[in-house]
Amino acid sequence: MNPFSLARPKDHAATHALLTGRRFSLPLLKGGGMDVVDHLKEGLWKPDVVIDTRHLRAPGASAPISKDGQTIRIEAWATMSEIAASDILLKDAPCVAHAVGSAASPQVRNVGTAAGNLLQRPRCWYYRNEQFQCLKKGGGTCFAFEGENKFHAIFGEGPCYIVHPSNLAPALCITDAVVHLHGGKRASLPITDLYHTPDKGIRTEHNLEPGEIVTHITLSPAPVSGFYAIKEKQSFDWPLAFACAALQLDGSTIRSARVCAGAVAPVPWLLPGVDAALKGVDLDDDKALRAACAKATEGARPLSQNAYKLTMLPVAVRRAVLMAAGKKVEA
Ligand SMILES: Cc1cc2nc3c(=O)[nH]c(=O)nc-3n(C[C@H](O)[C@H](O)[C@H](O)COP(=O)(O)OP(=O)(O)OC[C@H]3O[C@@H](n4cnc5c(N)ncnc54)[C@H](O)[C@@H]3O)c2cc1C
Ligand code: SF4
Repeated sequence: MNPFSLARPKDHAATHALLTGRRFSLPLLKGGGMDVVDHLKEGLWKPDVVIDTRHLRAPGASAPISKDGQTIRIEAWATMSEIAASDILLKDAPCVAHAVGSAASPQVRNVGTAAGNLLQRPRCWYYRNEQFQCLKKGGGTCFAFEGENKFHAIFGEGPCYIVHPSNLAPALCITDAVVHLHGGKRASLPITDLYHTPDKGIRTEHNLEPGEIVTHITLSPAPVSGFYAIKEKQSFDWPLAFACAALQLDGSTIRSARVCAGAVAPVPWLLPGVDAALKGVDLDDDKALRAACAKATEGARPLSQNAYKLTMLPVAVRRAVLMAAGKKVEA
């Protein structure tokens, strides 16, 4: 590992100055540092300064998670454990609390932050191994396309087939979340604009400009919302496929639905076809519910080893919908 300085600037302005000034040529922000340290250990990043952000407080930050009227606010530095245990989120946006509570292990959740979770890099094993110079690292080949792609994307046009690794991002995509920024030309952007597909830029997954710092996230209540993940083993693994669903109900009938899938595409994957098909479905009519959820795989194009996700995704969607409505989900 190369030597680097560790900085703890006093505020966001000083952080921005370090990111954009001439003193350092390869500055790197850190929240909890879980993913940053992984990259340093694997020799993938060689920063000359690592800048801690966890002590930075944006104006109006009163607690890791707070609520003002109909706006819920999550600070960039809120830990995943704080998000998972938040009474505000458990009551007003349970899909967010449950998605984050299902991620990783208690140790990781105690350290990982909201901003770091949204901006963590993909888990593709070729990307993570410094021996493989794949497209994402400036090489000429996607090794996963013809190689080991069991955990990769079933949606998207390539040429990189990562799945976005964040559990938090898809839950925020169905709760009208906005990411607030310091240091750039804009003050915020909707979460649905935070990410881009690999055809729009293969070296990065997000649309932040150099020098932009995430300060906090705001979202709208979605009290009838749920999350369901299918994992290879029920411990600290990343999910194979998961879904977040937010509903408006009229008795047991779905008046409107918003569904976003995770672990199936390079970005959180909204499912407007499922949203439309769920409208008017009676939750007690399981045949109709399954038919609507089957639309989740429309447009999917699995790789050589991941067609199993075609079976899994509609199951995750249906169970997320049932969880949202407080219905029993079979084990
Ligand atoms: C065994 C294991 C299992 C895991 N399983 C899951 C899982 O199932 N689901 C899941 O979602 N995650 C999972 N993770 C990943 C883990 O949740 C992330 O590594 C963690 O959330 C990253 O948060 P952090 O604060 O440590 O980020 P950091 O490592 O500090 O930062 C990550 C990235 O965000 C940038 N960054 C950090 N803060 C800011 C900011 N304020 N503004 C701009 N950029 C910023 C950093 O520069 C870096 O690029 C797992 C990790 C492990 C080790
Ligand atoms: S999926 Fe993306 S990160 Fe993985 S090998 Fe292909 S180009 Fe690299």
